[in-house]
Amino acid sequence: MAQQTITVIRGDGIGPSIIDSAIEILKAVGCDYEYEYVDAGLAALEKTGELLPAATLEAIERNKITLKGPLTTPVGEGFTSINVTLRKQFGLYANVRPVKSFEGTKARYDDIDIITVRENTQGMYSGLGQVVSEDGSEAEAMSKITREGAEKIVTFAYELAKREGRKKVTAVHKANILKSTSGLFLKVAREVGERYPEIESAEMIVDATCMKLVMTPEEFDVIVTTNLFGDILSDLCAGLVGGLGMAPGANIGSDAAIFEAVHGSAPDIAGKNLANPTSVILASIQMLEYLGEAEKAERIRSAVADVIKSGDRTTRDLGGSHGTTDFTQAVIERL
Ligand code: NAD
Repeated sequence: MAQQTITVIRGDGIGPSIIDSAIEILKAVGCDYEYEYVDAGLAALEKTGELLPAATLEAIERNKITLKGPLTTPVGEGFTSINVTLRKQFGLYANVRPVKSFEGTKARYDDIDIITVRENTQGMYSGLGQVVSEDGSEAEAMSKITREGAEKIVTFAYELAKREGRKKVTAVHKANILKSTSGLFLKVAREVGERYPEIESAEMIVDATCMKLVMTPEEFDVIVTTNLFGDILSDLCAGLVGGLGMAPGANIGSDAAIFEAVHGSAPDIAGKNLANPTSVILASIQMLEYLGEAEKAERIRSAVADVIKSGDRTTRDLGGSHGTTDFTQAVIERL
């Protein structure tokens, strides 16, 4: 079998330090993939004048699997989000964001285990919108949901639930107000749910979901929802397990997958060796599971769990006083 090549985008801000950490750990556990480094975001803009050079897109397409650091989209006219572009270009319709408690974090809960499945290409992130008045005082944006898109993401969520032995799928919506878009999503979610009688189907309005996630998170197992709600809810879920440093995400399409952290480039702590690399390490675990390397994935997970539990060289967000490189070393020593 041909050797797997992984496209690696180190990204901006804290990206390079946390991606280097994840790659060191992958190598330490014996993942002798080819790693093809390409640029995107500010790093690419400085080198090539483009945020997403053609060579980067080609590598993502050719290798199918990408491990990616966060990218900074410059604020200002003319720059559409690089992440939204990538998700659309490669049809990465499912964004799978699991959160799981690790003993030893500063989180308020110790038994969280929730997967948010976020629709990744439609809804409010359609990119359709404009300022409609000459003086710039009026703007509009279009949210687009299709039956096909809704059916694909809800089916994905139920199939994931089935595969992973999950008991319940909650469809999160705002169909009481957004009758056309969220209404269509909910209608399709109900239809798909009926095809999976072995899995409990629930539905909940997004605002109530926020409150319940904070008060009674044990009610949730798999959440499936539209793009914007999924973006917000998954950050909320990250907060339940100790913060953004603990939250990975997989962008899955039919022909390609991009694994990354939920968080951004964290400019406030960039270049200071302060970032918690767990988010991207957990994303690399998702990548290994996707590649059928469950045993290596589990070895990394238990090494990370042990580092956090024992407080050995943990980063500041985890209550420790160490940096990204020390944390990485502590994980590698346990592998
Ligand atoms: P952010 O997610 O980068 O940071 C939010 C807060 O969380 C900051 O205080 C940061 O220090 C902290 N944080 C994030 N990751 C951490 C880690 N691994 N360890 C410890 N603390 C961590 O959000 P932001 O500052 O609003 O966004 C910065 C940039 O990132 C923006 O340009 C945005 O467009 C981009 N962004 C990119 C992605 C992506 O590439 N997938 C996602 C979100 C935001």
